[in-house]
Amino acid sequence: MEEIDAVIVGGGVTGLASAAAIAEGGASVCVLERHPRPGMDASTHNSGVIHAGIYYPPGSLKARLSVEGARELYAFCARRGVPHARCGKLIVAVDRQEAERLPDLEARARANGVERLAIVDSGAIRRREPRAAGVAALLSPDTGVVEPEALVLALGRTCANAGAHVLTGTSLIGADESSRGLIVRTERESILCQTVVNAGGVFADHVSAMLGGESFAIHPCRGEYAELAPARSGAVEALVYPLPDASGHGLGIHLTKTTRGRVLIGPTVRHQQSRHDYESGRMALEGFLAPARRLLPELELKDLRLGGSGIRANLNPPDEPFADFLIRRDRLNPRIIHAAGISSPGLTACLAIGRLVASLI
Ligand SMILES: Cc1cc2nc3c(=O)[nH]c(=O)nc-3n(C[C@H](O)[C@H](O)[C@H](O)COP(=O)(O)OP(=O)(O)OC[C@H]3O[C@@H](n4cnc5c(N)ncnc54)[C@H](O)[C@@H]3O)c2cc1C
Repeated sequence: MEEIDAVIVGGGVTGLASAAAIAEGGASVCVLERHPRPGMDASTHNSGVIHAGIYYPPGSLKARLSVEGARELYAFCARRGVPHARCGKLIVAVDRQEAERLPDLEARARANGVERLAIVDSGAIRRREPRAAGVAALLSPDTGVVEPEALVLALGRTCANAGAHVLTGTSLIGADESSRGLIVRTERESILCQTVVNAGGVFADHVSAMLGGESFAIHPCRGEYAELAPARSGAVEALVYPLPDASGHGLGIHLTKTTRGRVLIGPTVRHQQSRHDYESGRMALEGFLAPARRLLPELELKDLRLGGSGIRANLNPPDEPFADFLIRRDRLNPRIIHAAGISSPGLTACLAIGRLVASLI
């Protein structure tokens, strides 16, 4: 039987960043990833936004790790040649009533340590986004975009350089306690380890159960996208958001210009049972038009086409507005460290999450 210090279950950005950080500390590490390639679930089905840390309750892990993680991610992307842009974002108030909410949002962001924010008027909106609506906006110059696929590849290379092995096409199927550690079982082999990190994304609750850890529930929440037709992508310069959704489950359908120049419209919020279903019952294109036109009034249905979708690994059920990341040791089995409930801003925060996980070992 193979013996190793740490097994990471899940080869998305959380698992890869954790594996790299642990291996860089000198431990032997392998990542189990059920898909043929790393990062095929949420890590490449998202908006690719590097969040500044504006929305999250002060003191939460989401607030702290997005602020720290964004700084680290910009530096990492520059060092490793990952396409990214510090393009800035406008959170747009479309009327006076909405504008009254901007100072609270700004105060929350400042409490989280977000710097260089400003509330700007309609003239400043138009200078950055000539076609956008809005009477005022919160400008966040340090919000940006990253190419998620390239980030996953770069994290994979970082793991390899640090000596961490990524075993693709390898699912965790169970685990047994032994006097010498935890024996982690896959279809092909058993691995004896001292620590196992649960980075199973939307399956993290199943992974915890298979490892003999605490019971908790992930509430899958699909986010669907439309896109602007390529000929219309010049209508948006960077990132244009509405005021955040009162439900707390999304940031509101927004416009994201990706590193490749595509303009995404979304994501929507759709709670569902399935953790695999990206497609059935998708919102019709018409459903994207009204929220997109609040931000960009000139849009017409012919400018839109259907885009992709992703599934959020929420810890909060539909009727609860917020749940923090769950990053800590399991209370039943101290050999397990959870990095679970990594919904947005998990892409932004991945390097900071990895460092935190490594510090727990
Ligand atoms: C629609 C949407 C938009 C988003 N937009 C943004 C954004 O703009 N900015 C941002 O910062 N964040 C965003 N996020 C969040 C971000 O994508 C996630 O926080 C991040 O990708 C989580 O990474 P992860 O590694 O934890 O999960 P995942 O990428 O889902 O990885 C988990 C991995 O575990 C593997 N796994 C599960 N069970 C097993 C098993 N039994 N054995 C082996 N492997 C297993 C899976 O195959 C999977 O690859 C968005 C998410 C969604 C869904």
